[in-house]
Amino acid sequence: MSRWDSPAGLAVKAALTGVERWLLPAACLLCDESLSPRDDSALICDLCRLRWRPIPDPICDRCGQPRLQDLECRLCAGWPPGLSRVRSAVWLEGSARDAVHRLKYDGWPRAADAMARAMVGLEPLTAGVFLIPVPLGNRRRRERGYNQCDCIAAAVGDRTGLSVRTDVLQRVRETPTQTALTPEARHANVAGAFRGDRVAGLRLVLIDDVFTTGATLAAAGAALIEAGAARVDAVTFARASQGLAPRS
Ligand SMILES: [Zn+2]
Ligand SMILES: [Zn+2]
Repeated sequence: MSRWDSPAGLAVKAALTGVERWLLPAACLLCDESLSPRDDSALICDLCRLRWRPIPDPICDRCGQPRLQDLECRLCAGWPPGLSRVRSAVWLEGSARDAVHRLKYDGWPRAADAMARAMVGLEPLTAGVFLIPVPLGNRRRRERGYNQCDCIAAAVGDRTGLSVRTDVLQRVRETPTQTALTPEARHANVAGAFRGDRVAGLRLVLIDDVFTTGATLAAAGAALIEAGAARVDAVTFARASQGLAPRS
């Protein structure tokens, strides 16, 4: 009988679980409904998760953007070679957008678990790949205290059994925020911003919260291939619609 299996140990354990549950919010982070006691680690309720809308087929084989059949994809035409394909779980809208926000800016790293649940079926997450969270620049990481992509990668790793590597991709220079830039300017902005290391022969899957134009993922993928990776794919929780999401 270990110390924790003794009657006193069990009482301590029960008390600790009680404290932890008490510290968790009793209501969903997104809609304020009370959380099901079945899954007392969840921060986001089932109803909110079920409202997230998956990206519909057909999609571009490389960047994963929905498109009209037989038309060449313009979104990834300008990407540097390296990144093989990107897949995203849901549209960036409504409560999916709220979940991203809670994780990134509101200090709820465990919101990543609900996001990971939506991602685990994505094609690139096959046996033997390593999960690589896209690193933040040092300054941004200091400001935020953590990297939201680390949280998502850890949660996807927990659910799939895939290993996470945070030591093989570095951001070697800070990049100004991308939001106000055109797609072309975004590529120039992030070109050469990453360096890969110790990835020779490995199959890698980059992990990011949101796909917008893919410029950051494409630059990171190019750096990892340059460092000798056998293949680089990427998965993101959400995808900005750029006018393509059907109206609900
Ligand atoms: Zn909810
Ligand atoms: Zn494409």
